Amino acid sequence: MRFIIWSMTLRCLPIKLCDLGHIRGKMNLMTPVIKAMQRAVDVVLTSPHPDSKVAATLFSGNHHLSMTNDWPPIILNTLGTEARIGDSSGTVHAEVNCLIHAPFPTDGASLAITDPCCPNCAKCIAEAGIKTVYIDHKGFEKDFAARRGDEFQSMSLRILAHAGISLYEVRRKEHLIRTLYTPPDNYVPPEDNPIEIRPCRIMRLADLSPEILLQTARLVKVKHARWACAVATDGQGKIWTLVASTHPAIGYTHDHMAAAEGKYDFMLEPVNRILMGAARAGLTIAKDYLWCSVLPSPREMVNAIGAGFRSISIGDDTHAKKSASNEARHILEISNILDFKSIKL
Ligand SMILES: [Zn+2]
Repeated sequence: MRFIIWSMTLRCLPIKLCDLGHIRGKMNLMTPVIKAMQRAVDVVLTSPHPDSKVAATLFSGNHHLSMTNDWPPIILNTLGTEARIGDSSGTVHAEVNCLIHAPFPTDGASLAITDPCCPNCAKCIAEAGIKTVYIDHKGFEKDFAARRGDEFQSMSLRILAHAGISLYEVRRKEHLIRTLYTPPDNYVPPEDNPIEIRPCRIMRLADLSPEILLQTARLVKVKHARWACAVATDGQGKIWTLVASTHPAIGYTHDHMAAAEGKYDFMLEPVNRILMGAARAGLTIAKDYLWCSVLPSPREMVNAIGAGFRSISIGDDTHAKKSASNEARHILEISNILDFKSIKL
């Protein structure tokens, strides 16, 4: 039954698909994949979520990081588990939790997930440069997957495919990996607009100021009213400036935008792009140097809090993509979870 559903889904994709089938016997590939999935399964029950426990393992070479969906501690301790942050829950999803805490560059890395991913995570996975996603076969059989199945098939899967990400289903006990999707050879996403990462003219963080951040960012041609910039350091302490504007998910163009319905769309907002761009390059964003031209979306705010931010600078706080941003700002400000500083261009 599941195979039929997959086949129908995949036929809807506008790009050529490869054969579906099981991979057997390639132990040099399978062992790290099975281990990564097992690591996710091992922690999934530690998720504090009462009815939707999800875990993921980010892995590349000998490096790996497993995390569950979770409330950032400051949200959990201050607001509890029931509070809504605008139109967002207070949780960070397992996949994004791995990406924002990645201790190694995520570019080209793999992700093993216990459940099918939501469209927001799919967009972040693509932006972070993940090349392969594995999903535990049991994830397709859970209630949550049944409820969210349409969103996975109509959006998440398409987002991953457009970004050229290979997708597999894993059966740990049988040591089987089923190919769900692989991009055609030499596939290049039809549109890719990586965030701008440039060396900062300031050599030491101590010499940095928000104004210098903006001066540097202005040198980059920004294509959208909603954009963000940040300053980050690499493993050697070198300082970099990151700039990103709102953009369709990798591989999508503005022509696809009309296809989005309901809760999700195909756009990735600038703060999420900055967080994922930093993860992709292995950069650590300086905590006081994240700036957004307008109020970020509630989901971006929660992800930034999950990444450890306690303040964010805003250019024009009278504008936002959605009104829920104002509600999210209010609850986060009065509970001292996130400080909103005004720094106008
Ligand atoms: Zn998600």
